[in-house]
Amino acid sequence: MSSIAPRYRIGLIANRAHQDAPDSALVQLLTGSRHRIESLQPELIVVGRTLDAIGQMNLLPGYEHLVRFPYGRHGGLMKLVSRTVDEDPERTLDAVIYLIDPVDPSSTFPEAVALKRQCVIHGKPFLSTLAGAQEWFELEALANGAAPDASLDDRFRLGQEGIALIAHDAMKSRMLELAEKHFAVLDQFAFRCATGTTGGLLNQLAMKIKGEAGRHWVKPFLSGPLGGDAQIAELILEQQCRRVLFLEDPHVARQHEADIQLLERAARTVTAYASCMSDVKWGDRWLTLIGQRAQ
Ligand code: PGA
Repeated sequence: MSSIAPRYRIGLIANRAHQDAPDSALVQLLTGSRHRIESLQPELIVVGRTLDAIGQMNLLPGYEHLVRFPYGRHGGLMKLVSRTVDEDPERTLDAVIYLIDPVDPSSTFPEAVALKRQCVIHGKPFLSTLAGAQEWFELEALANGAAPDASLDDRFRLGQEGIALIAHDAMKSRMLELAEKHFAVLDQFAFRCATGTTGGLLNQLAMKIKGEAGRHWVKPFLSGPLGGDAQIAELILEQQCRRVLFLEDPHVARQHEADIQLLERAARTVTAYASCMSDVKWGDRWLTLIGQRAQ
C-alpha cells in the first residue's frame, strides 16, 4: 500500500441505522468505493462507533489512514465541526461524509446542524446521503486521472435525470453565475425544476442564452416560503429527481427553516438515490466534474 501523504482529509460518521446491517449505507459506501479509497488514499477521521463498525465488519482491512475521533456522546461530532472550520492545512477537513438517518434524533442535535452549516460557510462538501458520498468519490477520482467506474454510468446519463435548483435571496446572483457558467451541463438534464423566484430568474437567463426556446427551461414550483421546497421534496421521494443544488444563505434566520429541513430530510430518506449540494464552491466543482463524467 502506498505511503504518500493523503491529499484529502474526510470526516466520516454514520447514524446507527446506517452502520451494522450487512447492506447498510456505510457498508455499501466503503465496499463499493473501496477502489476509490485505495487510489485517493484520504485520511479518514472517523467518529467512535462508526469506526467500531468499520473494524467489526472489517470494511477497510489494512487501511493506513484512519484516525479515531471520540464517540458522539464524548464530543466526536463537535470536534468534526471544529476541524471543518480549522484554517490549519494539517488539521482541516476537505469534506464531511455524514450518513444521516433522518429519523435518528441525533441527526438533529445542535452539533449535527452546526456541522452542515459550517460546511456551507467554509465551502466544504457536506455529503449526507450514500448517493452523494459515492458521487464525490467517483468525481474526485476522475479529477485525479482515474477511469470512470462503469457500474455508476446509469446515474450520470443526464439526459434521463432531473435537477432541482434553489437559491436563497442573498445567493440568487451566485446561482445565476453558476447557471451561466455551467449552462451546457445543466442543459443536458432531462428537466430542471426550481422554487418560484429562482426558477423565474433562471428562465430569464435561459431566454437570454437561447431565446424563446429558453422560456420554459426550468419548471418553477411555488416560492420556497410558500411550499416550493416541499413540492420538490415530493419529486425526490418519488425518485423522479435525484439531485438538488441548493445555495443556502447560512447567515440569516430563515422563516421557512422547517421547509428547508424537510427537503434535506427527503434526500436522506432515499439515501441511495438522492444528493444535495449546498454551497457555491462544491456546486461549481461538482458541475464541472459531472459535465466531464457525463461525456
Ligand atoms: P424562491 O425560494 O426561489 O421562491 O425565492 C427559495 C427560498 O427562499 O427557499
